[in-house]
Amino acid sequence: MPDIAPFSLKGRFWRGNLHTHSNLSDGALPLDGVIGAYREAGYDFLQMSEHFIARYRWPIADTRKYRSNSFTTLIGAELHAPATGVGELWHILAAGLPLDFSPPSAEETGPELAKRAAEAGAFVGIAHPAWSQLSIEDGHALAAADAVEVYNHGCFVEVDRGDGWYLLDQLLREGKRLNAFAADDAHFKSDDAFGGWVHVKSEALEPESLLAALKAGHYYSSQGPQIHEMAISGDELWIACTPVNAIAVMGHNSRTAHRHGRSITEARINLADLGKSWTEVKQSPWLRIAIIDGVGKRAWTNPLWRDQVRNKQ
Ligand SMILES: [Zn+2]
Ligand SMILES: [Zn+2]
Repeated sequence: MPDIAPFSLKGRFWRGNLHTHSNLSDGALPLDGVIGAYREAGYDFLQMSEHFIARYRWPIADTRKYRSNSFTTLIGAELHAPATGVGELWHILAAGLPLDFSPPSAEETGPELAKRAAEAGAFVGIAHPAWSQLSIEDGHALAAADAVEVYNHGCFVEVDRGDGWYLLDQLLREGKRLNAFAADDAHFKSDDAFGGWVHVKSEALEPESLLAALKAGHYYSSQGPQIHEMAISGDELWIACTPVNAIAVMGHNSRTAHRHGRSITEARINLADLGKSWTEVKQSPWLRIAIIDGVGKRAWTNPLWRDQVRNKQ
């Protein structure tokens, strides 16, 4: 049975948060405190993503001195420029920026800034779509994006606008090959830390290899549950995970294939339940899988494109 990346790849999963603020911008804690908190919570890596604006003197946190054999950091920021459909500044997550990344000029737009960040080597994410009230047109405009922030824990706990799947699902439906990521966006002014993260598959806990894995989509997102293995053969999906009560497979329309129960750790799901066979041309060109545990915490795969799976079979 062919395994599915990233589960089939060499290496192990490393847990990290890509979106967090210190008092270098509008967070409550100094850098030491934020990084210490994540390290103690068992994270393998962290990226500080300060608001890259003049008011905070264009901060890109230099976290290199916190790197060790058991913990590492990515260098990045949350970038801002005009303007989204509702007339506000874009919030663009950029992981893997050079420390000397230039501030935007007054004329540079959000999409242009995102493109410049991608060209500088960054993994680019569309931050908190629901909080920003982004539309599908906004999703089209930010063409340089690698991924959509499908869960923002801070926006969820503070104002109940944590979800970003509505935007990503629409973009996927149009054939846009974007991935998903969950993050905290913690400011440590509320209970906004340790609620959403990524598990990145990499052979080494090194910034360069984590960044390459992020750009390749070799990771999944979680609020708690973990996916151990996944494979597809014919119309059958096999998944092994930490105990969950629901496993759902979704595609480009309302059809789903799902399993419900108590403390499921392994399941075989018939993808023909999605309406048409996985191997038929008219079926959804992509699938994604969500798992939900007994207290409602979820984990999400990146979209799985049928042509990529077929190439491997
Ligand atoms: Zn933001
Ligand atoms: Zn933020």
